[in-house]
Amino acid sequence: MLSANLQGERATFVTHLECSMTGERYPADRLHGLSAAGKPLLVRYDLSAAGRAVSRDGMASRPTDLWRWRELLPVRHTSSVVSLGEIETPLIPIPRSGGPGVIVKDEGRLPTGSFKARGLVMAVAMAKELGVTRIAMPTNGNAGAALAAYATRAGIETVVLCPDDTPEVNVREIAAQGARVWRVNGLIDDCGAIVGKGAAEGLWFDFSTLKEPYRIEGKKTMGLELAAQLGWRLPKAIFYPTGGGTGLIGMWKAFDELEQLGWIGPERPKMFAVQASGCAPIVKAFEAGEEHAERWENAHTIAAGIRVPRAVGDFLILRAVRESGGRALAVDDEAIEQATADCAAQDGLLLCPEGGATLAAWRKAVAEGLVGADDEVVLFNCATGLKYPLADRSHVLDRNDLPPLETL
Ligand SMILES: *Cc1c(COP(=O)(O)O)cnc(C)c1O
Repeated sequence: MLSANLQGERATFVTHLECSMTGERYPADRLHGLSAAGKPLLVRYDLSAAGRAVSRDGMASRPTDLWRWRELLPVRHTSSVVSLGEIETPLIPIPRSGGPGVIVKDEGRLPTGSFKARGLVMAVAMAKELGVTRIAMPTNGNAGAALAAYATRAGIETVVLCPDDTPEVNVREIAAQGARVWRVNGLIDDCGAIVGKGAAEGLWFDFSTLKEPYRIEGKKTMGLELAAQLGWRLPKAIFYPTGGGTGLIGMWKAFDELEQLGWIGPERPKMFAVQASGCAPIVKAFEAGEEHAERWENAHTIAAGIRVPRAVGDFLILRAVRESGGRALAVDDEAIEQATADCAAQDGLLLCPEGGATLAAWRKAVAEGLVGADDEVVLFNCATGLKYPLADRSHVLDRNDLPPLETL
């Protein structure tokens, strides 16, 4: 059944789009890629009109799914939305493997098992609204899966290119959900170059991270939701596993919009951009005081979702982290595996490796005095841990030759 939040036609409050680098304006309701300066476009709204249409208390009476935020989202016609049930994700404390104030926002509960659903449900709705019939995308796995699911339902053809060592479950779920999937002997930016070439030839619309403007708007709902769930305040710090950085950029934008609406104050969490030490271009740029990040060579990590050697929104990630007084932190695969194992064994919550990276980074931040051990912080578990290979810790029992049962 369609969410009550999606019933009836309605108008959006979008006024225009804006180059995130130069501020140059672009009209709404047209198909856009990057700006003329080659940078991501940001969607702008008439927030005073949106604030007159719905109050903070009005929000409270709505069903809590993603479409609750419709006045702050770009979709003009409800009929453009193909929904798979984009629920509000729960906040789960992990006091044992973390600390008394550590909460996980568990995004693994979303359709297709990752937070990529938030971005892709929005981007696909807008593509449908604007008449796109064929989409191509480079992916490390979860984005391709979410695209395949939503685009197939919307009747849009999809071509998905992924590195040949992408988690097997991702490659297969993408194909199962109706996309044509190709394994490429390269990294995600190599796949992106092929997608860009086809787009330039007019073969398809390029859905690469931040190269179309609406995924940020979908991911922004993580920040809106978090504020509402915490009673219209924000935690001391947020730890976000950063690949292309869509979610971090989106949440930072969400906090701004909420403040302009008068729904939160000027306080902001420290934003921690978490990367793997085998692929940490943002951390390197942060530490060097640079505004842009160089491509990371020979990228490797078990956390495939954050194996992104180059991000088109690098300067937006770095800007948000610096403005917030946070940091970019790298953690190694061993620390990621340890954190993931501890959280499952001690708190009963199975994280994906990228989610494990945020717990490892929180531990590092506490050790370095960047956050207090008791501070309220939110970690993002971006996908369900069930998508990834698990260590076999089982034992074998011969039913015909049982040992004493008290030894089991
Ligand atoms: C995409 C992805 C990330 C990175 O998210 P961005 O917003 O693109 O930085 C992290 N973890 C997982 C599991 C992902 O699928």
